[in-house]
Amino acid sequence: MQKKVVLFMLCVLLGLPVFAQKNYQNFKVSVYTRAYEVEKMKDLHWLDSTWNIISSQVKVDKIYLETHRDLLIVPQSTIDQAKKFFSDRGVEVGGGITYTVNEANNFETFCYTNPEHRKKVQEIAEYTAKNFDDFILDDFFFTNCKCDLCIAAKGKMSWTEYRVKLMTEAGEELVIKPAKKVNPDVKVIIKYPNWYDHFQGLGFDLEHGPQIFDAVWTGTETRDPSGNQHLQAYLGYNVVRYFDNLRPGFNLGGWVDSGGSSMGMDRYAEQLWITAFAKAPEVTLFAYNQLIGTRLRDTHRTAWQGQGTSFDWNEMMEPVNINGKEVVPTTLARAAGYTFEKIDQFMGKLGKPVGIKSYKPYNSNGEDFLPNYLGMIGMPMDMLPVFPTDQKVVLLTEQAKYDEDLVSKIQAQLRRGGDVVITTGLLKAIPEQIAQIAELRCSDLKAIVNDFGRYGVSEKDILIPQVLYYTNDAWETISAGRPLTGGVSGFPMLTRAQYSKGNLYVMTIPDNMGELYDLPAGVLNSLRQVVGRDLDVRIEGPANVSLYVYDNGTFIVESFLNEPVTINVITGQATTKLNDLVDGSVINAYKPLDAPATTTMFRMPTTPVSTFKVTIMPHSYKVFEKK
Ligand SMILES: [Zn+2]
Repeated sequence: MQKKVVLFMLCVLLGLPVFAQKNYQNFKVSVYTRAYEVEKMKDLHWLDSTWNIISSQVKVDKIYLETHRDLLIVPQSTIDQAKKFFSDRGVEVGGGITYTVNEANNFETFCYTNPEHRKKVQEIAEYTAKNFDDFILDDFFFTNCKCDLCIAAKGKMSWTEYRVKLMTEAGEELVIKPAKKVNPDVKVIIKYPNWYDHFQGLGFDLEHGPQIFDAVWTGTETRDPSGNQHLQAYLGYNVVRYFDNLRPGFNLGGWVDSGGSSMGMDRYAEQLWITAFAKAPEVTLFAYNQLIGTRLRDTHRTAWQGQGTSFDWNEMMEPVNINGKEVVPTTLARAAGYTFEKIDQFMGKLGKPVGIKSYKPYNSNGEDFLPNYLGMIGMPMDMLPVFPTDQKVVLLTEQAKYDEDLVSKIQAQLRRGGDVVITTGLLKAIPEQIAQIAELRCSDLKAIVNDFGRYGVSEKDILIPQVLYYTNDAWETISAGRPLTGGVSGFPMLTRAQYSKGNLYVMTIPDNMGELYDLPAGVLNSLRQVVGRDLDVRIEGPANVSLYVYDNGTFIVESFLNEPVTINVITGQATTKLNDLVDGSVINAYKPLDAPATTTMFRMPTTPVSTFKVTIMPHSYKVFEKK
């Protein structure tokens, strides 16, 4: 703090602009520029006027200049001019490559089997390394080629096997090694997109990639959650943590584009702050063209504005003075700048993210992207590529079936006195192995349910798989049925079987994962309690409210609902107050009227807790410190 004040005084005394001395305190902000726009930078007037639009609305630490996309290679003289322009303005410069032949043709990539394509890929890497000390490979360093050369070379391998082998080799031999030969100091960074569960099918190799490249970058673009990629908003947080867990400390940034802004500018802002909440050290704005071309329009103002939301449209639209001249906001760049200014106020107070440990073996799939749905129902996720051995609870989805030694690891966890929560997807995938612990089954039988007894009623019918068990060897702790509409009861939502000193739980996942959001609060509260035992805070309330937990007593609750919501925050009894790190207010613990739901068959250990009532505005967050 002292330093900042001194710096400020010095600037004032010397007549220097104060703004030039300081960008955001808690994260770096960068802009990625496609080859199309870098190519336009040969026109200095265009460059100066467009950069002015961006830099007058958001503070930028670094710019990435792409050398290649869709076979467009930016000429040397233009790269030289652009590098000088940004360096002269104190903006750090890095490079970028998009290895597409034609992005517009179903994301046509290079063919890494074809010798001519391979030569081109290497030349582009060398050209870029000659110009920059670091460069990022945007999204497309995978292959979807099925030409006759690829078909012949694949032979009897699966496409996944062939492509993973091919792309790992291409990364080392065509990109990393040639680049370092030209520029031994160059850092080659791979940016992975948001579709992580499907990577291996296209050749992205999360086992070796993060090790052979100098660092990774993370696509946190979630845009429309109901679109074809099933991009739940929570993915933006989860995927940053997961990629960091692949090689801790080497996930250097998150990456957001304007795709969500068509749903309202709040959706764009949410992606930016979620990326920062996951502690990505740098937030990259994709891309230069969107920051100048996406004009702020009234249609970007959402229906729930005017209630004091975290993204406040009217406040964002106020004139701003960033580089010495007051401007009225005109483009997407200001939405980004405004969002960063708000979160920079408290980001420095958050610790290291922690969550419910969920084991995803390398290059596995099954119940694709489920942890993001669990994040949306208030379970803080922390996916990692090894089975953790220091947790009270380990969560296993269907993907864990890729580990051939899984059962012995589950048994060891239970013998230690820990719990293991598996999903119905995993039970169905490896019934014989799970039977070593408890003879449970999950077949193709389904049930339509809407009534969860003391845990509440859902407004919609939910289709679930049936879990079967031997009576008295296991028991359902949350049961579901359909008595309201004439059906029968007694299908497990949560099943418990004891083994040694621990418990194996089966969590029933609806056939449509999105129906997790229709479960009543009572069911969600109990699931959060069982799965979240390693964390010192949890929430009670409906779905579409997420919780982010840090290791220093701070946490964030965020609502993705379109209307205000009141939830309970549950902490240990030692906490009596919550300090709001955004507005400085204090919330005191209260005594809830209703005791938490329990059944005679199943009783959670009743450790004393403190309960806090918290109201969150639509699409907004609250940041707390426990006191
Ligand atoms: Zn091919």
